[in-house]
Amino acid sequence: MKYLIASFLLLMSVGAFAQANTIVADSLMAHVRFLSSDALKGRATDSEGNAAAAAYILQRFENYGLMPAGKEGYRQPFQFYSRFPQKTYSATNLLAMVKGTKAPDSVIVISAHYDHVGERGGEVYNGADDNASGVGALLELARYFQANPTPYSLLFAAWDAEEVGLRGASHFVDEPTVPLEHIILNINMDMIGRNAKEQIYICGAGHYPELRAPLDRIAQKAPIQVRFGHEAPTPTRSDDWTYASDHGEFHKKGIPFLYFGVEDHEDYHQPTDDADRIIPVFYTAVSEVIRQAILHFAKP
Ligand SMILES: [Zn+2]
Repeated sequence: MKYLIASFLLLMSVGAFAQANTIVADSLMAHVRFLSSDALKGRATDSEGNAAAAAYILQRFENYGLMPAGKEGYRQPFQFYSRFPQKTYSATNLLAMVKGTKAPDSVIVISAHYDHVGERGGEVYNGADDNASGVGALLELARYFQANPTPYSLLFAAWDAEEVGLRGASHFVDEPTVPLEHIILNINMDMIGRNAKEQIYICGAGHYPELRAPLDRIAQKAPIQVRFGHEAPTPTRSDDWTYASDHGEFHKKGIPFLYFGVEDHEDYHQPTDDADRIIPVFYTAVSEVIRQAILHFAKP
């Protein structure tokens, strides 16, 4: 009951925080439910379930009217060799552009990985929070910004093969489909759908302090706790998220990043990371914080 009342209050404040016609909670959850359904068998790179997830994302990029920004339409296929298990994988990033209205050669890459770890021991690892949640927000943001373009360009990137070692983002920065020097910022989302304490972390402003002040202003108005950190090798290296997901590949190239994510929960990389454990009001509020951050940074 206590949880229900807290959720209701959060729901009311999220409603006031998000303006009409912005991020749609039902759409976020519909994306998560599809991507983390058993039919997709955990979306392991180079599997049928992964291809079905890719098809779902492509269909939406197309329906929303985004411009293809891959090598073959929206796709940026690549191959890589991995030793565990020993195999050459075929993978594909999915890239779509909303061209800027004033300075289109300045580009923000908005990203989330769509692969997960697949099946193990006959169990499907559905990966609802990791990272159907990030992809759901990516799609909602793509839909919103296609209708409401910003002065700078936005490149929406759904990475493959994150779970095999940030391979999709690594391939992109090595063979970028826009000049790397045009990319002013990477905003990466990985696990944004749930937290018992209603806390979302933003990592990156410690490395790039000029990003911090506007985020503080957005955080103050948010109905959830927006925290900063996990970006210095203190107190222990495991607390440092600088290279914990795809944004690390941008940081290696000296491109500023902001990573949005929650602290690990008991279902992290477990077969129980399911859609019914996502907290829709929290997830919607985080997506709204990210929308506001994009609005701020995507202009001169
Ligand atoms: Zn992840």
